[in-house]
Amino acid sequence: MKEIINIEEIFGENVFTIGKMKEMLPKEVFEEVVHVADFGGELSKKSADIVANAMKDWAIANGATHYTHWFQPLTGTTAEKHDSFISHPDKEGKMIMEFSGKELIKGEPDASSFPSGGLRATFEARGYTAWDITSPAFLREDATGTILCIPTAFCSYKGEALDKKTPLLRSMQAINDQALRIVKLFGNKDAKKVIASVGPEQEYFLVDRDLYLKRQDLIYTGRTLIGCPAAKGQEMDDHYYGCIRERIGAFMKDLNLELWKIGVTAKTQHNEVAPAQHELAPIYETANIACDHNQLVMETMKKVAERHNLACLLHEKPFKGINGSGKHNNWSLSTDNGMNLLDPGDTPNANIQFLLVLACIMKAVDTHADLLRQSASNVGNDYRLGADEAPPAIVSMFLGEQLDDVVKQLVERGEATHCKESNHLETGVSTLPDFLIDPTDRNRTSPFAFTGNKFEFRMVGSSDSIGDPNIILNTIVAESFCEAADRIEAADNFDEAVHDIIKEFVTAHQRIIFNGNNYSPEWVKEAERRGLPNLPTMLDAVDSLTTEKSIKLFEKFGIFTKAELESRKEILYETYSKTINIEANCLREMIKRQIIPAEIAYMDELASAYNNGRQAGVEVKTAKDILEKVNDFSNKLSESITLLEKDIKEVRTIKDNKEKAFAYRDRVKVRMEEARFYSDELERITDKAFWPIPSYGDLLFEV
Ligand code: ADP
Ligand code: MG
Repeated sequence: MKEIINIEEIFGENVFTIGKMKEMLPKEVFEEVVHVADFGGELSKKSADIVANAMKDWAIANGATHYTHWFQPLTGTTAEKHDSFISHPDKEGKMIMEFSGKELIKGEPDASSFPSGGLRATFEARGYTAWDITSPAFLREDATGTILCIPTAFCSYKGEALDKKTPLLRSMQAINDQALRIVKLFGNKDAKKVIASVGPEQEYFLVDRDLYLKRQDLIYTGRTLIGCPAAKGQEMDDHYYGCIRERIGAFMKDLNLELWKIGVTAKTQHNEVAPAQHELAPIYETANIACDHNQLVMETMKKVAERHNLACLLHEKPFKGINGSGKHNNWSLSTDNGMNLLDPGDTPNANIQFLLVLACIMKAVDTHADLLRQSASNVGNDYRLGADEAPPAIVSMFLGEQLDDVVKQLVERGEATHCKESNHLETGVSTLPDFLIDPTDRNRTSPFAFTGNKFEFRMVGSSDSIGDPNIILNTIVAESFCEAADRIEAADNFDEAVHDIIKEFVTAHQRIIFNGNNYSPEWVKEAERRGLPNLPTMLDAVDSLTTEKSIKLFEKFGIFTKAELESRKEILYETYSKTINIEANCLREMIKRQIIPAEIAYMDELASAYNNGRQAGVEVKTAKDILEKVNDFSNKLSESITLLEKDIKEVRTIKDNKEKAFAYRDRVKVRMEEARFYSDELERITDKAFWPIPSYGDLLFEV
């Protein structure tokens, strides 16, 4: 029988939505909740108890046994500790289910083992989780049962942020305050709020789980540490947007259902460029919820994959020589009364508010290119950024032909009097419609591209939280909005002031615009000439967090204190070292315990073929040739592993966090590549029956 999926019924089924609250809460309490969610403040204790009780009743009616404060520590993933709703049984032994306002609002996990970068000494391990009323609670159903998940922020005893959500919420507040000043100056008196919206496109790989379980590198590090290319790669472009195979389709269908139930607007799905690579895009929502939902998307992908005997790889570069995965972060600003600040309209040259916003964003991105780059870096993304398929590590902006022309006019003459019209697309087929071509044409190589009514920040890595990039976007744009608003508010002549600021910002920061091919080596030189920062690896970007310029920015808007920034830096260096250390250990173990033994067995086979041949009076030259090669590469591989072991041992003893991380990059990682080279050469000439782990071909084409 045909299965009918009723999305309207399923969508948000497991979310304690505004609608459900409206039904279940007394009118005054409901209004209080909505007001606090929209404009801040605190729920009264009485109301908090009523909300908690309603939430509990709804959760239990839907099968929940536990609740959890769900938060996002600086590990980049999410954390939870479950508490059941049970309390003391009553006198007759009957269980009373309880959940108070206090339990809803505040949690106190023993947080001593989360990274804090020195912010919180182990002896004062206390950390607090605080309910984020702006992100709806939801039920998660899996083998653990049904758990009520309450999105929370995670702070130290002294209120320092230990997570990604707290600074994100602070940055949303900052952009709201400053953007509101701008729209009010332009006459939008009714707007009460400006909201940062985000739509993150999530790329991922799916491989067969049985094959995955045969590779320690995938299990421990999420990427293949060795492996030579398969006969076929992605050169035919036949996977991109290709027909979705049944097994993958079944996964996508389940994934969508799961996501819809928890209120994630899974919208677009398609095959990506690399074999076994796919993408999911939701409909954009407020930055904070988008960030929570993106975490849920990643978790759900992994979980649903397992059910289909697949493994979902979210690493930025699971396979060498094959496209990696990113997360395009689409970002825009709109008022609560429906005005998108990034919408240029039909005649951007005449849309002065838009031009001011654009000028401010140009200034922000140019001034803080280093911070944006930093926000998109993690250990995995180092293998992707700057490679063929990904944006380079240099931040630049792409505006499209129409806006580029407007900006040129502004720079040259101080005003833009006309704009290029959209062209008609003529197919030459009378039965096909002609339509207007989007004047913001696309440049897929740009790391920060204007795409119609939003900016698409394409550097972010697939496994990373989108918290950091959006904290940075919100904050840097808040800063230039603030400067513009200060000046306009103080000016006698509004038009003149706006005009001057646009001209000044656009002229001073035009170097950030680049419309050419970002992948070309010429661009690297050109960017250097323009004085744009080129921070090729994650470690090169870490210190940008604590430059004088950054500290001033973050402290001005209350996003991070200097101490919080220092702590984040420490965590980044530590994370880098730990990650490479795990990779190096894993590689060492695979080579010593799988690859070398396999080669010894193979050499034995080759030697006996050769010896048997000689006994039979035939010189088996092929066996001899291969044997010599295998022997030579095996020796070199063993030597490089010995050197790797020595490097690991020495680097581990380095005390200074930063120095250690750089040593991992410049010594251990380099040595790993050397070992990989010999291992991959061996794979090319080793009988497949002897090769102990699944190959690239197996992983990428047998799903
Ligand atoms: P493409 O791959 O062509 O860039 P997708 O449809 O895969 O486009 O993804 C575009 C993303 O941008 C979606 O998540 C979409 O909801 C989001 N988006 C669209 N408009 C806005 C906006 N105004 N602000 C933020 N995100 C937006
Ligand atoms: Mg897309």
